[in-house]
Amino acid sequence: MSASENTTPARQLVDRFGRVHNNLRISVTDRCNIRCFYCMPADNVQFMPRAELLSFEEIERVVRIGTTLGIDRVRLTGGEPLVRRELHRLVERLSRVPGIVDIGLTTNAVLLGEQAQQLRDAGLKRLNISLDALDPEVFKQVTRRDSYDKVIAGIAAARAAGFSPIKINAVSVKGLTEDQLIPFAELARETDTEVRFIEFMPLDADGQWDREKVLFADEIVALLQAEFGPLAPVPAANPNAPASDFRFADGRGKIGMIASVSKPFCSTCNRFRLTAEGKLRNCLFSLEEVDIRGLLRNGGADEEVAEAMVASIAAKNEGHQINSSTFVQPDRPMYSIGG
Ligand code: SAM
Ligand code: SF4
Repeated sequence: MSASENTTPARQLVDRFGRVHNNLRISVTDRCNIRCFYCMPADNVQFMPRAELLSFEEIERVVRIGTTLGIDRVRLTGGEPLVRRELHRLVERLSRVPGIVDIGLTTNAVLLGEQAQQLRDAGLKRLNISLDALDPEVFKQVTRRDSYDKVIAGIAAARAAGFSPIKINAVSVKGLTEDQLIPFAELARETDTEVRFIEFMPLDADGQWDREKVLFADEIVALLQAEFGPLAPVPAANPNAPASDFRFADGRGKIGMIASVSKPFCSTCNRFRLTAEGKLRNCLFSLEEVDIRGLLRNGGADEEVAEAMVASIAAKNEGHQINSSTFVQPDRPMYSIGG
């Protein structure tokens, strides 16, 4: 463990509920090369003008300031982060920031075939690949694009570049992806792949989310148990991890559930977000944001940026309200927030 991992900063990002925030998710673009129905509109997407996006220099500055408040891990996301030109240069920059011990990336893997090795060489440590179906037809139904083969090539390239284990996140949707569960479980059991199923959340662009469309974690576990026998919960190694893992009865492989809707993990949340155009969001479901691009571009001091982070975390609510009748879906869909 490096010295930086042991150092508790003088100030930390602690909210009103005692949660310490050390994990910043950074969206590098709202653009994407596919169109998952639970995230983006099918067509005519209005993307942010490029001049509005934070530059790599600006992102690095935010991260450096964040480390003085205890941020020690970051994850790059989007939109599709790999469509941002020269992304590996940002990874290189961030991996040199003192105090940052972990850099992750969440990607749809369409462009991973071309970039996996470059990203690994730049210092990327962890990669989460989003893939909702192993059947190319179901993949196409979800993504409204024909990129399945590129994704599979991207996963192979990630393996060849040394990312291990390969982590796959699959959004589960009732009436659409049930028959993908067993093939994914088999993949997890037979290869060096960790698979986690994510409940469909109300963050789509078309307002199509409906409770009836959520394939709940308990239902997924029941479906898998019917095929493979009892699943045993694995004690969480990291208390802040959103996934609950289960081991198969015969000891071969494990499988994870991210039950954001049915079993919210808000009480252990240590994450906040920076959107591609420089707004801090203290929660995926937040209805308010704190702008820092103005500070970054108009001569704001580091301390002012730090104060903006403190203010964002101070305003964080106890949890999301998806299960309440008063729930209000944020104006920004997932691709524009940074998932
Ligand atoms: N484009 C990259 C990707 O798909 O991995 C990164 C951004 S994407 C918004 C991040 C994650 O959010 C993906 O795993 C995606 O499946 C998930 N996601 C998007 N919309 C969602 C929704 N409405 N409910 C649950 N997960 C969602
Ligand atoms: Fe693109 Fe990721 Fe959203 Fe799918 S989930 S449309 S890959 S940003």
